[in-house]
Amino acid sequence: MTIRGIIFSIRYRWLDPPCAALGQALDFKTLAVRSLSVFYCVPAFCKALMATEKKEFKTEVQQLLDLVIHSLYSNKDIFLRELISNGSDAIDKLRFNALSDKELIKDDSEFRIKLYTDNEARTLTIEDNGIGMTRDELEANIGTIASSGTRKFMEEIKKGNTTDNPELIGQFGVGFYSAFMVAEKVTLKTRPAGSDESWTWESTGDGSYEVTEGGRDKRGTEITLHLKEDCKDYVVEFRLRQIIKKYSDFVEYPILMDITRDDTELDDEGKPKEGAEKKVTVTEETLNSMKAIWMRPKSEVKKEEYNEFYKHISHDYTDPIKTIHYSAEGTLEFKALLYLPAKAPFDMFQHEGVKHGINLYVKRVFIMENCEALIPRYLRFAKGVVESNDLPLNVSREILQEDVVIKKIEKNVTSKILSTLKDMMKKSSDDYLNFYKEFGKVIKEGVEVDAGNKDKIKDLLLYESSKTKPGEYVSLKEYVDRMLPDQKEIYFITGDSRATLENSPHLEIFKKKDVEVLFMTEPVDEFILPGFGEYSEKSLKSISQGDIDLGSEEEKKIAEEQKTEASGKYKKLIKKVQEALKDDIKEVRLSDRLTDSASCLVTDEGDINPQMERIFAAMNQPVPEVKRILELNPDHPVLEKMNTLFDSNKKDPKIADYSELLYNQALLTEGVAVKDPVRFSKLISDLMVANN
Ligand code: ADP
Repeated sequence: MTIRGIIFSIRYRWLDPPCAALGQALDFKTLAVRSLSVFYCVPAFCKALMATEKKEFKTEVQQLLDLVIHSLYSNKDIFLRELISNGSDAIDKLRFNALSDKELIKDDSEFRIKLYTDNEARTLTIEDNGIGMTRDELEANIGTIASSGTRKFMEEIKKGNTTDNPELIGQFGVGFYSAFMVAEKVTLKTRPAGSDESWTWESTGDGSYEVTEGGRDKRGTEITLHLKEDCKDYVVEFRLRQIIKKYSDFVEYPILMDITRDDTELDDEGKPKEGAEKKVTVTEETLNSMKAIWMRPKSEVKKEEYNEFYKHISHDYTDPIKTIHYSAEGTLEFKALLYLPAKAPFDMFQHEGVKHGINLYVKRVFIMENCEALIPRYLRFAKGVVESNDLPLNVSREILQEDVVIKKIEKNVTSKILSTLKDMMKKSSDDYLNFYKEFGKVIKEGVEVDAGNKDKIKDLLLYESSKTKPGEYVSLKEYVDRMLPDQKEIYFITGDSRATLENSPHLEIFKKKDVEVLFMTEPVDEFILPGFGEYSEKSLKSISQGDIDLGSEEEKKIAEEQKTEASGKYKKLIKKVQEALKDDIKEVRLSDRLTDSASCLVTDEGDINPQMERIFAAMNQPVPEVKRILELNPDHPVLEKMNTLFDSNKKDPKIADYSELLYNQALLTEGVAVKDPVRFSKLISDLMVANN
């Protein structure tokens, strides 16, 4: 390093944020000349300047704190779980970084979390020797920048029935603030690994917090809770043991506490015996068993332990719907503890999407959380741990994507989850249905992206249909099993909601002929349909697209004859209607699918349908303009009436008006707005007047 570089680094080392500006204001020459004095004098000057900085909480954080302080009363114990969990995460991070930089832990490689209590001061301190936080991290994580979870957490908690549910807090990434449920003041001191800066953060949770430089001489973070009067029993050893056993027993690092025992001999009244020697000992005890739950035999793990571990890694507050614990043996060896959540997290469908939920361990060392390479994206809701001994410790995310062992594990884990779901569907259909309502949309993505498991995934799909009640579902297998004898295809209709689809004119002939139609109401359905392929050798057919091939040969023959006759009768009228609607419509033709309604719109075979158009538009993608086909019901009296008008006066302007009304009616039955509502109302009013 050059002299200039050295001075620069000295300057920066001492002139941290506020003083750095001051340093920049001084010219460099002056600084170089005074380098020694800078070295010796500026620290003190800086310290004086740094003193304590008072900052306001970001509004959302303050609102959250108000809520935590004033509205959460039940199950306050979880604050300890959250803080211990943060400590354990901080050690995980350090342990991982230390794989490539041993220096970070050279002074202290005994990872641990320690609790300190002070009865008189009414404080509880949770200390970890993890990665610590820099000033910027402190600012970003705790204070000014509200995580996306803050607002969501508040929304959830304000939703009437969950007003007092502190368990939610971890799920939204705001667990630290749970400290304020039990503390009137929180003091956090932190020192990042490999650095000699340290920071003290303090707040009473009422609007502001203070940050002061210094405060901790060891790596890691200590959080001191100045307990509220009614929370003072959180210094009692028994209470702490109880909470740790319940929530944090499996934390991998020892949770230590100095336990004081007074073994002085007592008299009958429980007082120290006269003349007895005072025997007080202090021993450091480990309060948790630290057993990696996935390494233990299944038979020894209780359901509650599995569930608590799930909550620990997922930050979810509800129990999982399914726990899958297994070991792969043979050529590929690994242990996996996987969970299927009961509820979708709030960010499941946000732009960034929820993170993949599997943590990877190699030879008992935590390597990374949210390991994408371990599980395909469409199973990203699964949480858990995979531990393998066949991977090197120094793997990175990039290497993992290409690693053969990881690929094999991913394949195995995927199969395991899919087979578990299939089993669940068969044996506990209610559970499966609840699960599917939460995650069905995500699983469907697999049909598009996982060619190898496509058929297995199709077996897991459920849809409402024209033959199910709202909220009841049918699988493709059940659909095929109850297809009518001469039915060749699996019929479906896509749209925004069951309510619109149920009343769709396209369904009329299917209802009449008692043919079941699947209702596909999710945008993802549109995406996977083009590549869906067959199911059980039957192709899928949209009832609002192209022609319909329904009924027995005999029925079709009769229908064809009737249609030929009607075509002759209405040929000229249809031409006229087509002329009137030529700007909006590709073709006008007589319909096979209508029994009650006068008209409906059909997408031509191979054209993009309106639902897909809307999806593209929502994604700001250019959409080609596609005209659709207007089908008219030859048996509807409207057609007869129009034909009579047309026969008596080929130029009657009512024909064009009625054509427009038929088109608009078809749009409305699909739940789509008419192009010109004012004109539409006028046409209707005119019609009403004419009929009176
Ligand atoms: P979450 O842990 O779910 O992200 P928290 O509100 O509990 O949400 O913590 C916010 C962030 O603060 C953490 O993600 C972490 O970066 C940081 N943090 C909290 N506690 C510690 C700690 N003991 N050591 C280091 N960093 C911590």
